[in-house]
Amino acid sequence: MAGARRDAGDDGRGRAEERKEKWPPERKIAANGNTVGEWMDEGKDEQMDEGMNERKERRMSGQKEEKEASKMENGKQTMAKNASKRLLLHACCGPCSTHCVHTVREQGYEPVLYFSNSNIDTEEEFERRLAALRDFARAVGVEVLVDPYDPASWRRATAGLESEPEGGARCDRCFLHNLSRAAAKAIELGFDSFTTTLTVSPHKNSPRVFAAGRQAASATASPADGAAAPAFVEIDFKKKDGFLDSVRLAKAYGLYRQNYCGCVYSKAAASRR
Ligand code: SF4
Repeated sequence: MAGARRDAGDDGRGRAEERKEKWPPERKIAANGNTVGEWMDEGKDEQMDEGMNERKERRMSGQKEEKEASKMENGKQTMAKNASKRLLLHACCGPCSTHCVHTVREQGYEPVLYFSNSNIDTEEEFERRLAALRDFARAVGVEVLVDPYDPASWRRATAGLESEPEGGARCDRCFLHNLSRAAAKAIELGFDSFTTTLTVSPHKNSPRVFAAGRQAASATASPADGAAAPAFVEIDFKKKDGFLDSVRLAKAYGLYRQNYCGCVYSKAAASRR
């Protein structure tokens, strides 16, 4: 009997412990430390999240496509507006002209390059940069016009500003000097518009180049002879990695690239760097 009670007692404890071990029966521990129930709920949440993410991605890709389409449409409209428009493109050198010629052509302009750079320190350097420009122009079928080297006029224009740092007031005068000559050439040859490669350089402040271009355009028109002012087209060529593109293209065309801006002061500054 005692054995039977013991058995029955042992048996009873055993079942109770078994019941304890099984409790709660369905909530097992998942690998992430949560119970299975929680993990399954998380699964539902993840599925919902995935659905929401998919819808979000579809919406975003739709918006991106719409944006691209509108960009292309705007590009087409700009090209149509500029189609067959001749543009006098003041060129500071061959390397900078590479990206600029490609860019204005993409916008529907047909450029003619105008090399007007009496700011360059020596005639030898002037000829060297001009030769590089001609090499590039030949490769892409663009005409080059040349303003004869006239350093005395540039020195007069920048007189009193010799000790200005690169990027200072002397540069504003320098931009104005070269762009005034470009504006005069645009009027002489009947161009409606002109612009410059100067903005491709990361060392040149584009708004200040634009200001000089606008001033050159309005100052060059002569009300006496009724000539209309050519429009200065404000293109910031350094946008969209324009400078890097010009470096890459200059290499591809095998062009000489100078290591200073142009004037004797910028050459001295470059040698100190
Ligand atoms: S540093 Fe360049 S932009 Fe400035 S004055 Fe000299 S040549 Fe002209």
